[in-house]
Amino acid sequence: MSQAQEILRNTFGYSAFRSNQEEIINNLVEGNNSLVLRPTGAGKSLCFQIPALIREGTAIVISPLIALMKDQVDTLRSKGISAYFLNSSISHSEQNEIQELLLAGEIKILYVSPERMMNSYFLSLLTAVEISLFAIDEAHCVSQWGHDFRPEYMQLGMLAERFPNVPRMALTATAGEATKKEIINCLGLNDSPVYISSFDRPNISYTVAKKSTKKEDIKNLIHFLERDHLHDTGIVYCLSRKGTVEISEELNRAGFQAYPYHAGLPQRHRDKVQSIFSKQEGVIVVATIAFGMGIDKANVRFVAHMNLPKCLESYYQETGRAGRDGLPAKAWMLYGLRDLVMLKKIANKGVSSIKRRRVNEEKLDAILGFCETTKCRREVLLNYFSDPYKGPCENCDVCNNPTDKLIDATELSQIALNCLRETGEKYNVHYLIAELLKQGQDQNEALWHGIYRQLIAQGHLSMLMDGKSEIKLTNSAIDVLEGRIKVFLRADYKKTAPKKAVKRKPKKKAKSTPRKKVVKKKVEYHSWEGMDEALFQKLKSFRTDLAKKKRTKSFKIFPDKTLRELAENKPTELYELEDIYGVGPKKLKKYGKVFLEALAEFQE
Ligand code: ADP
Ligand code: ZN
Repeated sequence: MSQAQEILRNTFGYSAFRSNQEEIINNLVEGNNSLVLRPTGAGKSLCFQIPALIREGTAIVISPLIALMKDQVDTLRSKGISAYFLNSSISHSEQNEIQELLLAGEIKILYVSPERMMNSYFLSLLTAVEISLFAIDEAHCVSQWGHDFRPEYMQLGMLAERFPNVPRMALTATAGEATKKEIINCLGLNDSPVYISSFDRPNISYTVAKKSTKKEDIKNLIHFLERDHLHDTGIVYCLSRKGTVEISEELNRAGFQAYPYHAGLPQRHRDKVQSIFSKQEGVIVVATIAFGMGIDKANVRFVAHMNLPKCLESYYQETGRAGRDGLPAKAWMLYGLRDLVMLKKIANKGVSSIKRRRVNEEKLDAILGFCETTKCRREVLLNYFSDPYKGPCENCDVCNNPTDKLIDATELSQIALNCLRETGEKYNVHYLIAELLKQGQDQNEALWHGIYRQLIAQGHLSMLMDGKSEIKLTNSAIDVLEGRIKVFLRADYKKTAPKKAVKRKPKKKAKSTPRKKVVKKKVEYHSWEGMDEALFQKLKSFRTDLAKKKRTKSFKIFPDKTLRELAENKPTELYELEDIYGVGPKKLKKYGKVFLEALAEFQE
């Protein structure tokens, strides 16, 4: 028996290695670098913990997950291993003790935060220590392509220069091709082996459904839960804090036991929810992405997304919290174009780097492609993570609904593209559809939504990244328009809205969509389309009144641009105001609350 096998049995109490663990371990024991890509729960930690016990010296494990360090260290100690952690949560005297132990060579495994690792005092300390290896956990954080970029992680590139004789192992559970390349470059792993184990979670079934109105979406969710998960534990992810509260209320009304969770709630409440979720059964947590880190409940039966996650890495990570016990579990998501527009806005708010913008764009394209795919969803998802999986998996909605055949939609696509061309590529999908209905085309809004969505997913249309919601024709769109390429689209939208010419609502709509204005006034500094002009006007007169009351000038309260952004983004919480043009800390304090109240009132 090898030494590694002996440790696996005697120290960790396991009888056999999983997949390629042993190969990974041997490579590190021999002093070589590597990159390890393994899905969560597949046993990454052992890959460096066993070499740490075999090699001479202290292993330094760099991890950004400070909250989890204590647990990991406690587990190791319970196995008799001399393990410690150093991060900002520890008192000075404890830190001194640990440093002394480190210098005396009495620590086998030391967990540190990236900030600590880059601390110059700590670095100089390390030069006096025999280091067995560096394990860089959550290595995707070095990557600007990653979804969790941390600037201090990028500095870890210096490990290769400062400690050329200490082997480095980078580990991550989420890395697309671009992220992988950046990890390799940054951490100097060019000639090192990359160990990829399958990312497939065969027991998770994937479904993506179309978004509708807020009310319908919640109804859909409840229907899904009643049908498949009546007494199950699960997580519902929402983009907004407000959404978590609203939806959990609805679920409770429908008889489920649901709790909201977001970073703005008091710590007490969050701890309580987390504890109920981990200890009780049949509990649903409706949360923003703030919930999930370190959740280790094996029987989460479903993860539902009420909005599009910002990238496939996040989607994989969040859905991966379902079915850790290996039993059937569901990943269910609603998505619509509105989410995409919103995510683009969020992603690029305050981002000036062109590279970052391109990254965001490609990530959103990838997740859109996943949503609109006509292939097995598992295949698209896993291929994104460099896993050469081939479908059909028979466990996703695409595989299970072979009736969603492709149809030749060239003609419909031409109509949709033409409408965009003729209106000067200035407007959003919402406006274009209204235009098509007005022209007397097929009176089926869902049909046109589906066509525009799929045209974007297929790259015939592009959405701008500057926070505006217009779409543009790409080169291939011209080919479609001129009949050089055919377009095949999924036929599923036909099913969702088969009625023809039922609702024609030209007049009424004009009230909320100030379409005429746009045509007449062209561009002010950008169009009113998609924006609530009525709300803007109300805010303006509110500001006038307020200025009178405060004996000041309107523009000194907020410029028009601020009001526009308020009308456009409709913030409901103070923190959201921070992102609005012209709202600094002073004005936030002075006017934040009154404007939020006004906004809420005007929208009733
Ligand atoms: P990851 O970091 O990849 O998410 P962990 O390293 O936390 O996963 O491992 C997940 C669980 O699997 C842990 O409880 C770990 O002890 C266990 N495990 C790891 N390798 C093996 C193995 N070869 N046999 C049995 N259990 C294992
Ligand atoms: Zn499939």
